[in-house]
Amino acid sequence: MAKITLATTWLDGCSGCHMSLLDIDELLLDLADKIDLLYGPLVDGKIFPDHVDVTLVEGAVSSEADRKNIENIRDKTGLLVSFGDCAITANVPGMRNRHPVEAVLNRVYVENAETTLLDKGGESSGMEKMTFHTVPRLCRMARPVHEFVKVDVFLPGCPPPPAAIAFVITELLAGKIPEIGQLSRFGA
Ligand code: SF4
Repeated sequence: MAKITLATTWLDGCSGCHMSLLDIDELLLDLADKIDLLYGPLVDGKIFPDHVDVTLVEGAVSSEADRKNIENIRDKTGLLVSFGDCAITANVPGMRNRHPVEAVLNRVYVENAETTLLDKGGESSGMEKMTFHTVPRLCRMARPVHEFVKVDVFLPGCPPPPAAIAFVITELLAGKIPEIGQLSRFGA
């Protein structure tokens, strides 16, 4: 039987959903016989493939780069899974939504962050304010993935429990659209 191709990606998330994916433990070994993992933070591919059967997307859409990224992924994906609460509701990234973008950036990168300057001997020689010129341009609000592209499966949880992730992947492998039911819930 041909293997299905899988990708995972994260937008504005904490990587906790991917950690939960790794927590499915020995099932990963079973899946290795049935799945080709083509792209994502767990493998080395740098360019999203022309087509994958299933993509798990962690995180909210928070920047213009996220929006372009998810639109590209949608075009090249058979079934798109909103993977975790941040992808489904914006969740933690969405907590900034009631504040202006400039205020958020100043709070994080100026008011609350300093880096230690070291002299040639490695001793502290003062503090330097961080800059945020290289941070991707944030949208006014962090928003759920399905507000930008069609989503086929919603897998809630913060993060989704390993058993729910295993169930979703197993059902997709069987050619079924999974019914999550009681296996996971928002905030779980
Ligand atoms: S849903 Fe929870 S675990 Fe997943 S990326 Fe968001 S904050 Fe992290």
